[in-house]
Amino acid sequence: MARVFNFSAGPAVLPEKVLQQAKDEMLEWGKSGMSVMEMSHRGKDFMAIAEQAEKDVRELLAVPANYKVLFLQGGATAQFAMAPMNLLRGKDTADYLNTGDWSQKAIAEAKRYCKVNVAASSEDKNFTYIPERAQWKLNPEAAYLHYTPNETIRGVEFHSIPDTHGVPLVADLSSTILSRPLDVGRFGVIYAGAQKNIGPAGLALVIVREDLMGQILPGTPLMFDYKTHADNGSMYNTPPTYAWYIAGLVFQWLKRNGGLAAMGELNKRKADKLYAAIDNSGGFYRNPVEKSCRSWMNVPFTLQDPKLDETFMAEAKKAGLVALAGHRSVGGMRASIYNAMPEKGVDTLIEFMREFARN
Ligand SMILES: *Cc1c(COP(=O)(O)O)cnc(C)c1O
Repeated sequence: MARVFNFSAGPAVLPEKVLQQAKDEMLEWGKSGMSVMEMSHRGKDFMAIAEQAEKDVRELLAVPANYKVLFLQGGATAQFAMAPMNLLRGKDTADYLNTGDWSQKAIAEAKRYCKVNVAASSEDKNFTYIPERAQWKLNPEAAYLHYTPNETIRGVEFHSIPDTHGVPLVADLSSTILSRPLDVGRFGVIYAGAQKNIGPAGLALVIVREDLMGQILPGTPLMFDYKTHADNGSMYNTPPTYAWYIAGLVFQWLKRNGGLAAMGELNKRKADKLYAAIDNSGGFYRNPVEKSCRSWMNVPFTLQDPKLDETFMAEAKKAGLVALAGHRSVGGMRASIYNAMPEKGVDTLIEFMREFARN
């Protein structure tokens, strides 16, 4: 068996220790005589798995007691609709920041339910920066402000949480959740598709401040009401049990490895050295994002000569470095270096990039 260094943006690399444990427990979890996949979600074994996962993620993120933690289906994309359906609360307008492809998708969905005020946009410079806070045109009547703390495709990240003067802040943290400590109390709602930094695809983690629930837009399906899931421990219907279990193993792995403070230091170190290799390549490699908002998780780069892209990726693959193609909408390359990407993988990539440039 030869595991590669997998730089995929998602579904993405998982910690090898987690996969080993899942393998060991595949045929029988505990003394249950069955796989987690085969268990009733309401039985005591799965309930224990589910409760432990919630407890661990609450501990990792220091989630305040007045927030519900939900394990839902539909990915981050369902949240693009659930946010307005749940959070408009009688208002008819919401603020959105447009900093890239995922922001745009969230905006397109929200427009189906309310007036969207795009308070700031970086589209004029191809989404390579974050507009200055002083320039944002926030609407004091907005039900909430939605933003994308890390734009997975173009690699643009907010390195601080915006102040909204009391308007609930809603964040699509799909590609940066758990990558460093987070002040959850600053948010109204946080959501994240699991397949980047949490676990297998098919699960979304949603953290909702309790007072924002219970004023659903008329006509909203019960499945799209946060309160439905909060009142039923995320088991209103059959949840994605196996994905939930693997997420729980990832949470335990994070705790064993020093939690989010240690993860943040490691992630910063990994990102810093990869950007340094790009910046110090004499123009051979290039990252177009303004330095103050470069992502720690997704590092896009281009070659001076794009005709070499295919060769770069083919040679990289031979060296055990895979899934380096940029998103189909932007081209070039992208290295996603989530929590589970070992530092050794980043070092190996940097060494390969130096060799490739030399040759
Ligand atoms: C991947 C991603 C999504 C989409 O997630 P799905 O689980 O496929 O719905 C949304 N937002 C961001 C920031 C992402 O990285």
